[in-house]
Amino acid sequence: MAAREIGAAGIERPWYEADLIISSLTGYDRSRLHADPHKTLSDEMVPIFLEAISRRAEREPLQYILGNCRFMDLTLAVGPGCLIPRPETELLVIESRKHFRRGVFLDWGTGSGCLAAAILQDNPESRCIAVEKEPKAIMWAWKNLKNSVLLGRCLLWHSGDPGRVPVPGPGLEMIVANPPYIPSGEIPGLMPEVSMFEPSSALDGGLDGLDFYRLLVPWSAEVLRPGGVLILEIGDDGQAREIETICSRVFSVESLVRDLQGISRILVLKKHGF
Ligand code: GLN
Repeated sequence: MAAREIGAAGIERPWYEADLIISSLTGYDRSRLHADPHKTLSDEMVPIFLEAISRRAEREPLQYILGNCRFMDLTLAVGPGCLIPRPETELLVIESRKHFRRGVFLDWGTGSGCLAAAILQDNPESRCIAVEKEPKAIMWAWKNLKNSVLLGRCLLWHSGDPGRVPVPGPGLEMIVANPPYIPSGEIPGLMPEVSMFEPSSALDGGLDGLDFYRLLVPWSAEVLRPGGVLILEIGDDGQAREIETICSRVFSVESLVRDLQGISRILVLKKHGF
């Protein structure tokens, strides 16, 4: 019945999602649920389950309902106010391994804190300045860094103005960012989970999607040490070309990585002068 309700709302894998909701309520994994199909939910669980199903039928993202998602090998708390980490953003973490081991890096627009947490976890001798302008998102980042025992190496900085961020004297080793890059006009056409529930401040990159790169790239040129890297998630090839023209006098392109759909997704730029 539950699967039918969310299936009718246009959810692609309703049985699977209903299982995941039951698993999260009961603590039983899916194979145990299937091994014992007659097991019933306890009386107090039933209304919680029905509420979860009706939220999902309204197209609220499953991760917000479950209250968590996986990113690399971390389980992160997520909910209204922060962008749900996407699998393609894991590529950014993987790229960072080729360029960064120790020192201070900055995560611009940290959201759930996924990049800050995964890179800090990868590199025990690193420290992070994680910047976020949205109060709700910074609350999720704080929670995730604290739960992962990484908060002691991370300064969470609440601001949307790069000029106000405290940067160490010799400059930063690396800046990473998954800024909002979707052109404003495309937001209403996205899946309802995204357009109706996720924060538009994490998605909307202005008329051509490039507003935040125009702010971030020139500032990065000032605060990175010579030879430091700027690793950006981007929307597509066209955006990669535009960003290269914004920054060509200060940075050279180290690599452009495609995601599993073949879309240019991660742009690695190296500051000249090393
Ligand atoms: N990749 C996200 C999406 O497709 C967008 C994230 C962003 O704008 N940084 O919904």
